Amino acid sequence: MNEVKKPKKSLTFYYVIAIVILFLFNLIAMPNISEGKIVEVDYGKFMSMTAEGDIGKVEIQTNRILFTDKAEKNVYKTGILDDPTLIERLHEAGAVFSGEIIEETSPILSFVLSWVFPVLFMIILGNIISRVFMKKAGGNNSMMFNMGKSNAKVYVRSSDGIKFSDVAGEDEAKESLAEVVDYLHNPQKYTEIGASMPKGILLVGPPGTGKTMLAKAVAGEANVPFFSMSGSEFVEMFVGMGASKVRDLFKQAKEKAPCIVFIDEIDAIGQKRDGRLGGNDEREQTLNQLLTEMDGFQGNNGVIILAATNRPETLDPALTRPGRFDRRVPVELPDLKGREEILKVHARKIKTEDNVDFLAVARMASGASGAELANIVNEAALRAVRDGRKTVSQADLEESIEVVIAGYQKKNAILTDKEKMLVAYHEIGHALVAAKQKNTAPVQKITIVPRTSGALGYTMQTEENNKYLLTKAELENKIATLTGGRAAEYLMAGTVTTGASNDIEQATKLARAMVTRFGMTEKFGMVALETESNRYLGGDTASACSAETLSDVDGLVVDIIKTQYQKALDILTENREKLHELAVFLYRNETISGKEFTEILNE
Ligand code: ADP
Ligand code: ZN
Repeated sequence: MNEVKKPKKSLTFYYVIAIVILFLFNLIAMPNISEGKIVEVDYGKFMSMTAEGDIGKVEIQTNRILFTDKAEKNVYKTGILDDPTLIERLHEAGAVFSGEIIEETSPILSFVLSWVFPVLFMIILGNIISRVFMKKAGGNNSMMFNMGKSNAKVYVRSSDGIKFSDVAGEDEAKESLAEVVDYLHNPQKYTEIGASMPKGILLVGPPGTGKTMLAKAVAGEANVPFFSMSGSEFVEMFVGMGASKVRDLFKQAKEKAPCIVFIDEIDAIGQKRDGRLGGNDEREQTLNQLLTEMDGFQGNNGVIILAATNRPETLDPALTRPGRFDRRVPVELPDLKGREEILKVHARKIKTEDNVDFLAVARMASGASGAELANIVNEAALRAVRDGRKTVSQADLEESIEVVIAGYQKKNAILTDKEKMLVAYHEIGHALVAAKQKNTAPVQKITIVPRTSGALGYTMQTEENNKYLLTKAELENKIATLTGGRAAEYLMAGTVTTGASNDIEQATKLARAMVTRFGMTEKFGMVALETESNRYLGGDTASACSAETLSDVDGLVVDIIKTQYQKALDILTENREKLHELAVFLYRNETISGKEFTEILNE
């Protein structure tokens, strides 16, 4: 899919250069070349050579004298002076007066030499240079010759292009896009009935969920050219370039129709236009041009525009209204089955052992995006290579989940025994609270191996099934589980550590959401006190209430967390022996599986 074909460019520029060089060449170089090596000497030297008799042939022209030495080896030239006795002296010196010291080249030959040959030479050179330049300018533009041209890469039809089967999961998105493919294959079917395809389709979802892949797959399935360009590429150095790039992109696309135009990160140009002073003029112009272009072509001319974004709420309403990007296809994080399929798709590229259970791996990797799953498979393969094995095992995959997911929390330390025991208590605390509350997911695995790039301890909880709705009780249990780590430290060692900072953050976020967004408190009921501003990028929130209300909110959040902490502490106090037993097991083995955990718990 990566053969990149550049649109053809005008060569006039190179030819102009070639002609200019040719003129200079004729002016400066030609005379010397055709006259071979003539040595210019002063008149004095000519006179002394004449006096010494060292003169061969002589030719006196209107404005210069050409002569050779006696042996006729070298040709000299000199200027003409008023020298009445020159001829006599030359005659005495034995000079031969001849008219053919320099052979006149034939006029045809000289024409060929001075005009035809250089022209040919320049054309060839120009071609070579232009080709080299175009290759260089391939991806990013070489400013001089390429200003304002779009850099859209054309992925030419190719038999090994990405197909829908390469994109695992995402069935809803695929279904929605399959229609587009069908339309590109068979437009009459739609035009007959008077239906027109949406001009633009917006793929919306978190990073790494396969939006780009889906767009490519549409092009691959429909077997049409695929133009791709990133929103940020439109907004470049020069003001006004963005708009002309948009124009150029659409011009190319219309020539190649039917085709797919893919604009990645469309939020880079499509942000809401606001009247702010000093707003980004360039971006607005680019956006305006995009809107104009989208209006300018008829629905059924075979150009389908796909765009991807993970911040749909920032897009300008003009862009999302019907007639432009009128269809929105959500590309969400994969669910359990989706994750299993994605793992399998990527595992096709590597050699795995026969007994690998992808479902189990998918279960552990809850919340991972397609890109992360691809990364997990690759990490597993690397691990197998590192260990000198030929195939990837289940253990490799499980280990690499932790590298990829837990690995983000850094800390490269060798724990002292005391610290290690504390970490064991902390992690078992989480797991025990989770296990003792009915509604929380059972533990899959706990490790306290300090990772080069990972946390001190890691509890891998697994969801058996996908959950789309969480009840109030489940949320509270989640918070209790998060506080379980700190509660265990306090209960068993009488101290608290910094190790719980991440837990605290998460618990607070949950509790806050319960109050401000989920309407789960009696005091406020179903009032939205906060709005979520970007759902697909971590979900930042902005408050939408007065300062007094905010301080009430804070109070409620504190209450919720304190209650849940107390609940966790109670559970752990009740199961103090088990907590100790499990922690010692974890301390000794550094890792405990879900099975071992339940066994010890139920002894
Ligand atoms: P996005 O454009 O949504 O940020 P990409 O389409 O660039 O994500 O995906 C990045 C990589 O993640 C892909 O190259 C692919 O290897 C992997 N990937 C993501 N989603 C999927 C999926 N549904 N099936 C298979 N691979 C996927
Ligand atoms: Zn913790």
